[in-house]
Amino acid sequence: MNLDALAFGAHADDVELSCGGTLIKLGALGHRTGAVALTRGEMGTRGGPEIRAREFDRAAEIMGLSAHEMLDIPDARLEATWENKLKVIAVIRAHRPRIVFAPYWVERHPDHEQASRLVRESAYLAGLRKIETGQEPFRPFRVLYYQSRYEFSPSFIVDISAYHDRKMSAVLAYQSQFHHRPEEEDAPPGPAPETAEAETMLSRPEFLDAIEIRDRRWGSRIGAKYGEPFVVREPLAVDDPADFFGPGALGINP
Ligand SMILES: [Zn+2]
Repeated sequence: MNLDALAFGAHADDVELSCGGTLIKLGALGHRTGAVALTRGEMGTRGGPEIRAREFDRAAEIMGLSAHEMLDIPDARLEATWENKLKVIAVIRAHRPRIVFAPYWVERHPDHEQASRLVRESAYLAGLRKIETGQEPFRPFRVLYYQSRYEFSPSFIVDISAYHDRKMSAVLAYQSQFHHRPEEEDAPPGPAPETAEAETMLSRPEFLDAIEIRDRRWGSRIGAKYGEPFVVREPLAVDDPADFFGPGALGINP
């Protein structure tokens, strides 16, 4: 199925945390959206690949994605090799997305930086006819980079105020990874029994607060409650600056 937007993450949950609200909003606007986890997350401290796959399915359902898939690139040693590029090219050609989301190219986790490069190069290469995958060539119009750990100066911010609750529900689908607030229904305090494992930075309650604060902060920059920032490498073409830079571009009511 052709998609309008396809988001790549090194690991299941990267996309939900960083551009989940935007994916939900795109779906609500009538666009077809998808997500790809490049690895199965087998090196994660908490949970295992089977649990992560189930959580990924659940998050995709909450976000209303038209497609989601998990590749088998080895976790914690993700690299932009030719073999891996062919896997990503095949996914891009199968879904033919207008836009692709990828991690920002400066990141703490090495997999995220490698994923950024892998997706950027594969998005370009997918348009070259002589790279044979048995599919028609296709090059997405634009790669948009989402923010995880390191901040960048955004090219634009998407107002996700109306979709933030659903974003957090998608994040909380990763029960093995995150702390569960006691007040939440069907989620006991502390780690779920089957994953009573080592506390990680993600599993600390402060982590979810940090996501909330980050989304609030970016939202405030455009006069919205919640926002998600993106950066593009290439300049944006603007046909009619007088129209484009209206109140909508500022995000503030005149
Ligand atoms: Zn990750």
